[in-house]
Amino acid sequence: MSEHAPQTQHGTATGRSDSGAQNRVNRPNPAGAGGLSKHEELQALLKLSDLDSQLHGEELKLERLVVLVADQRASLEDLRQSVRADRERLERPGNSSSEAELLRHRIAGTDASRADLAGEFGQKEAEALALSEMLQRRHAEGDAQRKALTRGMPPEVLALYDLAVRSGRQPFVAKMVSGICSGCYLRVATNLAQRVRSGRHVSACPHCHRLLYEVAVTGDGQGQPRK
Ligand SMILES: [Zn+2]
Repeated sequence: MSEHAPQTQHGTATGRSDSGAQNRVNRPNPAGAGGLSKHEELQALLKLSDLDSQLHGEELKLERLVVLVADQRASLEDLRQSVRADRERLERPGNSSSEAELLRHRIAGTDASRADLAGEFGQKEAEALALSEMLQRRHAEGDAQRKALTRGMPPEVLALYDLAVRSGRQPFVAKMVSGICSGCYLRVATNLAQRVRSGRHVSACPHCHRLLYEVAVTGDGQGQPRK
């Protein structure tokens, strides 16, 4: 249950490597009975979606930073080679004084650009390293939070949530408004809309795989989920 660290994608709610979650699958847990009420389940799913969205956002940031650092490293190498080539030409005999002057001028300019870029590169590289370390910690914390949030949640709900996460569209839980998924703005079939409206089943949008809920949760009649 510790494969989270190197992966660039956030862990899944069912945690297929998590033996605890595997055990939970065998526990009969009809909606609302013995586990979470539908309202609690929805609140937990919304929190899970927030958690996974945040992690996903940080991961994207890290990916962009890693690409930027690699680009800067390549540019630094180009500049270094350009300076070296100019120095070699300068050292060769037979340069006229104006040619030598031009080369010295160009070397100075390239050196200055290289120094600027090296400073920025060092900064970005440190930033990427810090973000990567922070993300590793966040993944560890996220796993603990995920475990707490998914405790008592029926496996079929977790499986649906995992599918939503893997489909990669945030947020992973979306409100249904007048039979329309607010995630993808497509209408869902009437019978599915009724299921969602009943509040007794967790269902996914067939178009975008987000889990759907309607604001007025019936069934256990408790409060209004946010969003
Ligand atoms: Zn949708």
